Amino acid sequence: MIQIDENQIDRFAELLPTLPSLKPFDFCGADEGVLFPPKAHPGALNAFFFNAAHQFGFWFLQDNHYTRPMITQAGGVYRKGSDFLFYCTQRALKSDPDFFRPERLAALRPREIDRLFHDDHRRNPLPMWPEHKRILYEYADWFVEQATTPDLLVAKANHTRKPLKFFLDALREIPGYREDPLQKKSMLLAVILENRPERFLRVSDPESAVPIIDYHLQRSALRTGLVTLTDEKLRSRLVARACVDKETENAIRRATYQAMEKLVAKSGLSVAAIDYFFFTNRTRCPEMTEPACASCPVNAICKQDTPLFQPVFRTTHY
Ligand code: SF4
Repeated sequence: MIQIDENQIDRFAELLPTLPSLKPFDFCGADEGVLFPPKAHPGALNAFFFNAAHQFGFWFLQDNHYTRPMITQAGGVYRKGSDFLFYCTQRALKSDPDFFRPERLAALRPREIDRLFHDDHRRNPLPMWPEHKRILYEYADWFVEQATTPDLLVAKANHTRKPLKFFLDALREIPGYREDPLQKKSMLLAVILENRPERFLRVSDPESAVPIIDYHLQRSALRTGLVTLTDEKLRSRLVARACVDKETENAIRRATYQAMEKLVAKSGLSVAAIDYFFFTNRTRCPEMTEPACASCPVNAICKQDTPLFQPVFRTTHY
């Protein structure tokens, strides 16, 4: 019913390493100081730990159908989900370098929490705000109860033989990260910390990396033909952007995970580089407008099954 296409994976594994701009993102770059903390900012590590746990749910649901992605104006610019979250995190960090220390988060007053994600109209636009609020408190309380900090956790990981494996295993305990068996947010955080200019996480075991499967990657896997469907009813539900059940979402997400694992192994590229390709590809292959296939670097090998859409399913995993 839902399977990976080995031949298509081979085609992508051959093409992707030849693309010139395929290197991991450093989560700083041109957006330094606006979306991301400047290099060596003392609050950066705590801010990224907080931020990655909240990278989920940036879209709206109505009558059991996907309606639109979350886009709002902040700092005079229209920003989509993940960019909005980074903008808000950086804004809070500018006002207080200690804002994201777990004990500071645990002591936040309800008014301060509401303000954290205000847009230019003083509204909090996050479609899953109750879930974000719950994770914020559970995450902060966990660190306080365990008498540990993000710095200590990363330092411990860097002193092991397999820092990435230690780090991913440690995140299996932390609210905001522990809920997802496929560890999307955990691996995203590891990629950020490894690739930031500070090189917070010193990965010497890249073989411990896991694919980062979120909604745009599932959409790309289906449209490109890396993952295929044989069930016409399911195809119709995806094309109609109607909600699917947990089992269906799980099957598509696991197939995408498997396809990405194989793509990493066959291409020799890192999880971070492949993730960056598909992350940047989301603007060419978007949710609400026709994909720009003519200018897409995988145009020649892509199945271009553009009506397909990611499984519509509410989760805090991605
Ligand atoms: S060729 Fe078109 S459908 Fe395929 S990934 Fe690129 S934009 Fe999307």
